[in-house]
Amino acid sequence: MSQPSVNIGMVGHVDHGKTTLVSALSGVWTDTHSEEMKRGISIRLGYADATFRKCPNCPEPQCYTVSRKCEGCNEPSEELRTVSFVDAPGHETLMATMLSGAAIMDGAILVIAANEECPQPQTKEHLMALNIIGIKNLIIVQNKIDLVSREQLIEHYHQIKEFVKGTVAENSPIIPISAQQNTNVDSLIQAMEEIIPTPVHKLGKHPHMLIARSFDINKPGTPIKDISGGVIGGTLTEGALHAGDELEICPGIKIESEGTTRWKPIMTRISRIVAGKEPVDQATPGGLLAVGTSLDPALTKSDTLTGQVAGSPGTLPPTHDLFTLELHLLERVVGVTDEEEIGPIKTSEPLMLNVGTATTVGVVTSARKDTAEVKLKRPVCADIGATVAISRRVGSRWRLIGVGVIKD
Ligand code: GDP
Ligand code: MG
Repeated sequence: MSQPSVNIGMVGHVDHGKTTLVSALSGVWTDTHSEEMKRGISIRLGYADATFRKCPNCPEPQCYTVSRKCEGCNEPSEELRTVSFVDAPGHETLMATMLSGAAIMDGAILVIAANEECPQPQTKEHLMALNIIGIKNLIIVQNKIDLVSREQLIEHYHQIKEFVKGTVAENSPIIPISAQQNTNVDSLIQAMEEIIPTPVHKLGKHPHMLIARSFDINKPGTPIKDISGGVIGGTLTEGALHAGDELEICPGIKIESEGTTRWKPIMTRISRIVAGKEPVDQATPGGLLAVGTSLDPALTKSDTLTGQVAGSPGTLPPTHDLFTLELHLLERVVGVTDEEEIGPIKTSEPLMLNVGTATTVGVVTSARKDTAEVKLKRPVCADIGATVAISRRVGSRWRLIGVGVIKD
């Protein structure tokens, strides 16, 4: 398998078949956390790689496959590219996780189950999130076609068309599939090849990696001499990383002493890089990678470093514990049954902010119509000009209300 070169998000309402579709394309079941298996839903960001291939003999779309041998003519297929899937949870309480995944998506598949009325709340909320984060390369999948009649499928298609009117997905293809029975997945691969191009990578720059997950990969009881260092997973947005490189991770670790809190960047060295299931000497932007470090795995266990940024020492964006946002708010809250209007942001109101893969809560210290100054509970490392997804507490949960741009 070659290094993945593009990240494709799998988004949509809970139970509509995102994890099943990732599995049909990659052979990997991404719900592996014990709580996920018990409850049958994705809680964390899952990821899996798949290599798209094409049979040189068969016509489109049948020629598209993930198998080494064409199912049609049994001849060997040719490799096109390897992609990484980012499997987002679709449960309403896990919007922050979906948003941190959206930060690393180059394009996305919106999965909509054909056996339920469209749109369901998170179908709407996820599309709105892609819309305001600016992910334009979208494909809509109408899944579970094995459960409905032809007439129901056509009716559902019209519901989707009506729902996407006026959004980024207005002209996206709508592909009917059954993820479970592997029906029409070849057409979906063709659509991904055509609609979600591999981004042009900025290579001559300092490496900049957004951390989406972090792990302790050691089994309990591993003898100390065999312990592997902490592992971080995520995507390079620019530059390249090599085994042996020094790495700085910001904001780093929280240090509390004498009543004050500060964050200290973490310094480490890359021991190995895995991209596309294989160890590689160099990782380039575009897909998901796992980076082994010399860190104490206690620092990386259970996603402790999710949301942080890694790169060459001294080259990372600034860490902010306070910033001013230029506001672009939506008119209405999406994803709730009776959609409320969004009022202005007020001083001392708490906001949930997603910046890159980071999620933090901030309190508004001053607000005007188009700008707000926010003090963060947990600092974030981000460039001036970066986009921030803003959510407000409505009832019992955080609802996406717009985006902000970091001014200073
Ligand atoms: P997610 O919450 O969107 O990740 O949904 P899952 O992939 O976990 O699927 C939810 C349920 O729908 C599971 O029981 C799947 O087996 C089932 N499912 C997924 N795709 C299909 C399909 O194409 N047809 C049918 N009949 N069931 C499906
Ligand atoms: Mg899932």
